[in-house]
Amino acid sequence: MRIGIDLGGTKIEGLALERGRELARLRLATPRDDYDATLRAILQIVAALEAQAGGTATIGLGIPGAIDPDSGLVKNANSTWLIGRPLAIDLEAALGRPVRIANDANCFAVSEAADGAAADAGVVFGVIVGTGTGGGVIVHRQLLTGRHAIAGEWGHNPLPWPDADEWPGPPCYCGKIGCIESFLSGPAFERDHARRSGRDERSRDIVTAASLGDEDASRSVAIYHSRLARALASVINLLDPDVIVLGGGMSNLPRLAPAVTKLLPTYVFSDSAAHRPSPTANRPLETRVVSNAHGDSSGVRGAAWLWPA
Ligand SMILES: [Zn+2]
Repeated sequence: MRIGIDLGGTKIEGLALERGRELARLRLATPRDDYDATLRAILQIVAALEAQAGGTATIGLGIPGAIDPDSGLVKNANSTWLIGRPLAIDLEAALGRPVRIANDANCFAVSEAADGAAADAGVVFGVIVGTGTGGGVIVHRQLLTGRHAIAGEWGHNPLPWPDADEWPGPPCYCGKIGCIESFLSGPAFERDHARRSGRDERSRDIVTAASLGDEDASRSVAIYHSRLARALASVINLLDPDVIVLGGGMSNLPRLAPAVTKLLPTYVFSDSAAHRPSPTANRPLETRVVSNAHGDSSGVRGAAWLWPA
């Protein structure tokens, strides 16, 4: 049996899995700004799930950050009360067994590559576009963490092929300017639409307006498609994955995957321009861009799959 726990900013969710089948699930509010209470809540969830499922499990944990490979301490977490804390060491001491911890976007990629939309694909890039942006890389079923535990963090590269209107770009919370995240997160999409249209609207309302033919909203959605395609094209040039899985709130935009798929050949270094009969005769790529299969459950499922069969 595997237990996966998704430690989020507002809730901690736990799931007990047996061969991909869900045995039990539990959710608690995250004790914000309190590290010791957060530890206790995780232990409480493990105890309750094991009691409910009747067995001892491997434990995987997804966090909104990463464990520094050198120090073993949490870093890059927007749940700031975890930063600099020895979360893995404390949990292992309390549970008396090893605990695997990964970034939540990595858990998303692990989940979709294990038994989701990218099951059995060779190289998978899992993308989160929601409140922020994140990403995870799976190579032949192995999570690629990287030397600094930042592999897949495409959101803090600059937006590629910017037009005059996109350069130098908005400030990002990471301290840089023009990061992909500052264009592709949900809040960034809303800010960008408000700037262009003068209308302060939520993402879903913009999308609805676009589907009804509203010109400003249609333009905002088309620009979003273009930006996502450019950002993913640079990932394809570097990694050339078999499958890109889209996750996070913004991945629920209707027809996002096909719209982006159509734009990719313009930017990807494949079947190079010199060999094309005309600029419009781009051959489609073999890269599959797909929506996720497990939705909001990808975080807990991926955490559970950190211990492979
Ligand atoms: Zn940034």
